[in-house]
Amino acid sequence: MFFHNKRLMYTVRVSETNPVLANLMLEQFGGPQGELAAAMRYFTQAVAETDPGRKDMLFDIATEEISHLEVIGTIVVMLNKGIKGAVSEGLTNEGDLFRMMNQGGDSHVTALLYGGGPALTNSGGVPWDAKYVDTIGEPTADLRSNIAAEARAKIIYERLINVTEDPGVKEALGFLMTREVAHQKSFEKALYSIEPNFPSGKLPGQPEFADKYYDLSQGDGEMRGPWNNGDQWDFVENSEDLSAVDGGDGGASVDLSSDEGELLEQVTSRSKSNLSKDPITGADLGAGPAGGAITDEKATRSKKRNGAARP
Ligand code: MN
Ligand code: MN
Repeated sequence: MFFHNKRLMYTVRVSETNPVLANLMLEQFGGPQGELAAAMRYFTQAVAETDPGRKDMLFDIATEEISHLEVIGTIVVMLNKGIKGAVSEGLTNEGDLFRMMNQGGDSHVTALLYGGGPALTNSGGVPWDAKYVDTIGEPTADLRSNIAAEARAKIIYERLINVTEDPGVKEALGFLMTREVAHQKSFEKALYSIEPNFPSGKLPGQPEFADKYYDLSQGDGEMRGPWNNGDQWDFVENSEDLSAVDGGDGGASVDLSSDEGELLEQVTSRSKSNLSKDPITGADLGAGPAGGAITDEKATRSKKRNGAARP
C-alpha cells in the first residue's frame, strides 16, 4: 500500500514564471526517460520479483521515482503558476498573453492545454506510453536495461540543467540527476550479485560462434579495438565463408506434407513469370520525354498515334 507525505522529497524553489522551461521539464515527467516510466518500470518488476533482496530494492527505488515525479511535476506547476491566473481569468491583453505563454516555443502545451499543470506527455506533447518499459522478467536482462535507463535519465537531466539559469530549478534537477546515478550503482551491484550473470538466462551460447567477430562492414575506416582484437577473439574477414557459417549450403528447406506441396505448386504456377513476354505498361503509354526509355517500337508508335490524334 502507499501513503503520501505532503512534503516533497526535495525543496522546489523557482525564481520566476517560465512556461517555455515548464514545457521542457515535461520530458522528465511523461517522456521515455522520465520519472513515470522509471516508476512503472521498477514497480512492475518489484511486484513480479521472487528474490527478497531485489524485490525490496525495486520497491524502494520505484517509490523514490514516484517522489521524483512529484518533484518534477511541481517544478512544471511552479514555472506556470504566474501565468495560470492570467490564462484562466483573461485579464491581460490578448497579444501580451500570447507572448507570455508562447515565447516563440510550444509552451501552450502546459500553459494553455493543461491549465499550468503537468501532463503525462513528453516535452513535444507525445502521450506517455507503456512501451517505454521494456521489462522481460529475467533479472540479468532487466537489471542491464535498468542501468541503461538510469544512464539515459541522467543525461536528460544534465541537458535540462544546461538550458536553465534558474538556480532553484538547477539545484532540484541536480538532485534528481544525482539520484539516477545512485540508482545505476544499486542496479549494477544487484546485477553482479547474481553469479553467473552473463549471458542472460540459462542456455549457454554455442561455443563455435561465441567468440567470433565477423568483419562485415567493408571499405575505408576498418578499425581494430579490444572489441574485436586480442586472444579472446577469432576475427573473421569478410569472404564467401561468411555465408552459411554453420558449414551448410546456406539454402533454406522445409519438409511439407503432400497436400501442402500440391497447393504450393498450384500457387507458384498461377503466379509464374513469363520470361518471353515484354509487356507494354501504363508507364510506356503515359511516358513523356522525362520518362526515359520505353518498352519497344510498337509502344512508341502507338503512343505517337495517340498523341497525334489529340489536337
Ligand atoms: Mn528518478
Ligand atoms: Mn532512477
